[in-house]
This record gives sequence, structure tokens and C-alpha cells, in this order.
Amino acid sequence: MEKKDKVIVCKDCGKEFTFTVRDQEFYEEKGFTNEPVRCKECRDKKKAERNNRRPNDNRRFNDNRDRF
Ligand SMILES: [Zn+2]
Repeated sequence: MEKKDKVIVCKDCGKEFTFTVRDQEFYEEKGFTNEPVRCKECRDKKKAERNNRRPNDNRRFNDNRDRF
């Protein structure tokens, strides 16, 4: 069956985004069976949140460095 771009409503912000054929192929390649539920913006936001947690771990090192 031929693939087509799909319009999906983002679970987080309610905005419509396009799940392009290219993205669908990428998902298939990765073995993902679920379609994305969030738009790219929200996914990036989630990713950024996850990355923001890391500096907290580094703070421990900085605290130690201050003590020396
Ligand atoms: Zn969104």
C-alpha cells in the first residue's frame, strides 16, 4: 500500500502536525509500531526537559569542587 502524509492532532498542544511519509519510513526503519502522538515542537520540548535534568547531576560535582 502506498504511504501518504498523515495529519495527527498533537496530544499535548492540540495542534495538527503532519506525519510525513518520510517520517513513517523512519519509524518503520526503527521498528516503531506506534504513530507519534506529539508534534515535533512538543517532542523537542520533552527532549529539552530531559536534558535539563542533567545539570542537576553535575551540580554535585561543582559542589565538591567548591569545597576543595
Ligand atoms: Zn504539540
